[in-house]
Amino acid sequence: MPASVPNWSVPDVFEPDGTEELPPELTRSSEPTSDTRTAGSADEPPRRDLTSGSGADGTGPTSSGAERQAGKGSGTGKSGGTTKGTGTAAAGIRTDVEPADLSTLLSVAVAAVGGSERDGQTAMAEAVGNAIESGEHLAVQAGTGTGKSLAYLVPAIRHAVTAHTTVVVSTATIALQRQLVDRDLPRLADALADSLGRRPTFAILKGRRNYLCLNRIHGNAPDEPDEGALFDAFAASSLEREVRRVHDWASDTETGDRDELVPGVSERAWRQVSVTGNECLGAHRCPVGSDCFAEQARNEAGRADIVVTNHALLAIDALDDRPVLPEHDMVVVDEAHDLVDRVTTAAGGELSGNAIKQAARKCGRAVEEEIADRLNEAGEGLEFVLGELEPGRVGEPSHQLSAALSGIRDAASACVNALGPEQREDVESGSARKLALAPTQEIQDTAIRLLDGFEEPEQDRRDVIWISAENNRPPSLQVAPLGVGGLLRERLFGQRTTVLTSATLALGGSFDTLASQWGLPPQREAKPATDTATAQEPPSDDSEPSWVGLDVGSPFDYPRSGILYVARHLPKPGRDGLPDAYLDELTELVTAAGGRTLGLFSSMRAARQASEQLRERLSTPVLCQGEDSTSQLVGSFAEDPATSLFGTLSLWQGVDVPGQSLQLVVMDRIPFPRPDDPLASARQQAISARGGNGFITVAGTHAALLLAQGAGRLLRSAADRGVIAILDPRLSTARYGGFLRASLPPFWNTENPEVVRGALRRLDEAAG
Ligand code: SF4
Repeated sequence: MPASVPNWSVPDVFEPDGTEELPPELTRSSEPTSDTRTAGSADEPPRRDLTSGSGADGTGPTSSGAERQAGKGSGTGKSGGTTKGTGTAAAGIRTDVEPADLSTLLSVAVAAVGGSERDGQTAMAEAVGNAIESGEHLAVQAGTGTGKSLAYLVPAIRHAVTAHTTVVVSTATIALQRQLVDRDLPRLADALADSLGRRPTFAILKGRRNYLCLNRIHGNAPDEPDEGALFDAFAASSLEREVRRVHDWASDTETGDRDELVPGVSERAWRQVSVTGNECLGAHRCPVGSDCFAEQARNEAGRADIVVTNHALLAIDALDDRPVLPEHDMVVVDEAHDLVDRVTTAAGGELSGNAIKQAARKCGRAVEEEIADRLNEAGEGLEFVLGELEPGRVGEPSHQLSAALSGIRDAASACVNALGPEQREDVESGSARKLALAPTQEIQDTAIRLLDGFEEPEQDRRDVIWISAENNRPPSLQVAPLGVGGLLRERLFGQRTTVLTSATLALGGSFDTLASQWGLPPQREAKPATDTATAQEPPSDDSEPSWVGLDVGSPFDYPRSGILYVARHLPKPGRDGLPDAYLDELTELVTAAGGRTLGLFSSMRAARQASEQLRERLSTPVLCQGEDSTSQLVGSFAEDPATSLFGTLSLWQGVDVPGQSLQLVVMDRIPFPRPDDPLASARQQAISARGGNGFITVAGTHAALLLAQGAGRLLRSAADRGVIAILDPRLSTARYGGFLRASLPPFWNTENPEVVRGALRRLDEAAG
C-alpha cells in the first residue's frame, strides 16, 4: 500500500473528531416543524403589490387591486392554518430594537440550530452581505457540510427586514424547497426574532398548476378529454378513483398544494382538478376566487420577507412581461448548477399531434364544429408527417412539414378568433372558453415560432428545432433556445442582485464555464470576504454585469475521507450495454464493500443489466430504480447497509444517505450528453463556430456537473468514509480527463483495484 493511502484500518479515523459534528443542515434528528409558510398575520398591511394579469403559466391572473387589498387583509380563509402567528410588521414589531449586524445574527442562528460556526459558512454569509450592499452579483461554491442555506438565508432575511423588501430564494428540487420551508426557515425565524425586532416571515410560491383549482372541484369547468380513459374501462375507473380522492382531499387541505397530497395522483388525474395560469378565469371573475388556493399562496408571498420558489417559476417571471413573483430586489438561486437547464425548458415549446387534437376537442365545446375539426385535421396531419421523418435536428424542413405547420398555425388562429376575447358569459362557458383558448393560443404561438425559425439559415437561428421520439412516445416537434445567457443577463442579472450557489459551480477549477452560460463576463478576482461594503468599488455602470466568484470549500477532509478510483485497466465503454469486464469489476467492488453501493448508470438499460447480473452473482440485495417509487427505494437502501441501489439520472442528484449504508458510489461511464442530443450538439457547434471549445463548454460541462453531483452522494456528513469508483478509463486516459477531475472534490486518487478493494473491505469490517 502506498504510504499516502488513507489507513482506514485504524479505528479512530472512523470516528468524527472534535470538529466533525454534523452541520446544522445535516442534523439527522431534526423533525420538520409544523410551523410552515408563515406569511404574516391577518392584520399586517400589505407591503407589496402583485401586478394583475395572467402569467404564461405562473400563478396566472390576479385579483383586482381592491380585491388584492381585501385578500391581504383577510389572510385566513382556506389557508388560515398556514399563516400561523409569526412576528409581523403590525403584530410583533419592536421599534426599540435596532436589527443586529450580520455576524451577530449568524452566530445567533448557528447557536439556535445547534451547530458550530464554520469558516466557509462565515465567509459565504459575509460575501452575500457584501453582494447585497454593493449590488454586485455573486457566484459562490459551497461544498457539502458548509451550511450554505444558513449562510445565504441570514443575510437575506436581514436585508428583507431592514429594507422592507422581499428576497426570492429559488431551488431546482422539491427536496430543497421542503428543507427550507419545513425546517430551516421556521428555525431561523424563531432564532432571529429578538435580534431583528420582529419574527421574519416566509412563504412558498409555485406555478398555478401545482394548486388545486376550486372552480374545477365545484364542477364549473368541463373535464379534460382523456384519450386513454375513452377506450379503456380500467383506465377510466382508475382515473375516476383518483379524481374522487382529490375531491375528498379538497375539503381537508389548507393549501391545495399538490405536493401535500399523499399518496400523489397521476398527471392525468391532476389535470382534471387544476389549471395553468392562462387557463384560470381570474380571481375577479371566478365564483370561488376569494377562496382560491393559488391566489392565497400569491397573497401570502406578497407579504413575506422570504419567498421560496423554483427555477421554473423564476424563469417564467423573467420571460413574461407580467410578473408572477412578488416585487423583490434580490434573488438567491440555490442549486444554480441546474439553472440553465430549467430556464431552457421553460423557454422551450412543443407541438405534437396528440396535444393539437386535445386542444381541438376543447375548442369543439365552444366554437362551431367545422372550425374545431380543422384543428383536429391539422393535428392528424402533423402526426402523419412526423411519423415519416427521422428523429433528430431539423435543418431544412421538408415541404410537407412546412405545410403541416402552416396548416396548424391557420387552424389554431381560426379557433382563437372564434373563441374570441373575454366576454359577458356564464361561469361554465367562460371556463370552457379559457380551457380551450390557452392551449390553442400556445399551439398557434409555437407554430409561428417554428415557421419563423425555419425562415432563417440554420447557423443563424436562435432556436434549435428537432423531432423527438423518446420513451416510446409518439413523435413531437420541439423547440428550445440555443442559449439562455442573453435572457438571464437582461431579465435576471439586469434587474436585481443575484446570488448563485451550489456545491458545484467551479468546473475545471473555474466559474467561467457556467458564467458564460449564464450570460456573465469572465470572472474577475473575488474581494476578500472581510471587505466592508463601503470599502468596495461601486459596480461599474457599463453593460457588463459585475460579479465575483467565491469558493468557500467544504469542512470535509476529502483526501482522508474518500478515494477516487478510476478503473484504468478496463476497456472504454461501448454502445452495446455494459461489457463483461465492467460487470466483473462491479461485482468485486460491491462484494468488497459488503453492499452499501449506490450505482449511478448513464442509462436505464445499463442500470437494469447491472441489477439483473449482480443479483445472480451476489448474496446481498440489489434494488433497481423503477421497481418502486424512488423515495421508497432510497428508504429501503438507507435502512439496510447490505443493500445496493442502482439507477440513473434522478439518483445522481437526489440521494442523501449519510452513514454506513452508502460507502461506495459507482459510475459506469463519464456522463456526456448523447452524441445525438440535438440541443447539446447544436450548442456545441455554435461555440466551435465562434472559435471556442464546443466540446468542453457543452459536453464537458454537462459531464463535469453530473460527475460532481454523483460524487457528492458519497460524503454526506463529516463522519462518512467511502469510495467513488469510475469504471470509465477515459477519466484517466483522455485529454479532457484533467478538466473533469478538477471538477471533483480533492479525494485521494488511485487506479489500483487491489488498493480500493482493500479499503472497502476495511470499511465494511469496521461498520460491522
Ligand atoms: S379557483 Fe378560480 S381563481 Fe383559482 S385557479 Fe381556479 S379558476 Fe383560477
